[in-house]
Amino acid sequence: MSDSLMKTYSPQDIEFEHGQGAWLWDKHGKKYLDALCGIAVTGLGHNYPAVTEAVARQAGLLIHTSNLYMITQQRRLAEKLIRLSAMDRVFFSNSGAEANEAAIKLARLYGHQQGIENPTIVTTHNSFHGRTLATLSATGNPKIQAGFEPLVGGFIHVPYNDIPAIEGLAESKNNIVAIMVEPIQGEGGINIPADDYLASLRMLCDRQGWLLILDEIQTGLGRSGKWFSFQHCGITPDVMTLAKGLANGVPIGACLAKAAAAEVFQPGNHGSTFGGNPLACAAASAVIDSIEEHDLVNRAMELGERIRNGLELGLRDNRLVVEIRNQGLLIGIELEQPCAELVNRGLAQGILLNVTASRVIRLLPPLILSNDEADAIVEKIVGLITSTIRVAA
Ligand SMILES: *Cc1c(COP(=O)(O)O)cnc(C)c1O
Repeated sequence: MSDSLMKTYSPQDIEFEHGQGAWLWDKHGKKYLDALCGIAVTGLGHNYPAVTEAVARQAGLLIHTSNLYMITQQRRLAEKLIRLSAMDRVFFSNSGAEANEAAIKLARLYGHQQGIENPTIVTTHNSFHGRTLATLSATGNPKIQAGFEPLVGGFIHVPYNDIPAIEGLAESKNNIVAIMVEPIQGEGGINIPADDYLASLRMLCDRQGWLLILDEIQTGLGRSGKWFSFQHCGITPDVMTLAKGLANGVPIGACLAKAAAAEVFQPGNHGSTFGGNPLACAAASAVIDSIEEHDLVNRAMELGERIRNGLELGLRDNRLVVEIRNQGLLIGIELEQPCAELVNRGLAQGILLNVTASRVIRLLPPLILSNDEADAIVEKIVGLITSTIRVAA
């Protein structure tokens, strides 16, 4: 093991040399089915021609100028995102955490503009919003916060999928400016709230004058079977953040805002050196065009159902399985015992998967799967779970 890197990760002793579609090859020539996509990033799979071409073409023209000048690729991308989401304006960052930082700053400034002195944002337990100081403070997970105190103030955590808990706060607090939630909790274990949760949050925000901020960093860009997961619920947020799947692996994030929220930032309030650079924006535009051209949003829905049905059939008598849940290609299989060892057993069997919240197998496969590849994922996962030994409680 190299000691030149900080120990933030303890990587597997596996290195992938190249990829094609849903497949990765390591340096020994072993082939793996990628059911994780770098955690919901490479939604178009690996070496997707339109993205490879867009990156190569843009690199040959210009990689970076500065936000001090006009960047056509950035405006073009913003217009596509606005058309698809019905939001009004976009700020581009380089990562998910940075997109959420922008959303948090926007909400605070919005509060101050209304004379609220200590603007507070409501977030939820088991959420994940990033690793910067403000976003880890927003994150409802003590493991991610431990050791980094003092945390950034101005966040209140409530249970996820619990409207009464927030209604209680509305009565006792007068400095709340926003609610920030994931439409489906990703790191938290593919937790899907009640069908009317987002609509209830929307009504509460409207009544109280709060901003509804949706973190769609994991759920966005077609993976859920809609362009954005909130579109399953017939509402629109005031602020939405994106990153992961936006440019198929080229670093980019985005904070979108609507109506009054879109007018909050003025020159000097926020910025980024790299954010919205021509290279990342050209890649992201190619991603969006490709998803549209091949109707991959509906395909994600179809593939999600196919995989879910296959898993339900293959695991129907399995006593380890507590629940199989999905929205499109956000798929969680909750077991009744911790199952971290499945990651290594999966690699041995030639499949990349993730275990989160200690006992949820998380699958985030690419939107470009063939039916055969989807069935191969099902077969491998069913095999892995079926050969897992049940541990007495
Ligand atoms: C991954 C993720 C983030 C953080 O994104 P980074 O690009 O790693 O900073 C924030 N929110 C959600 C919901 C995520 O899944």
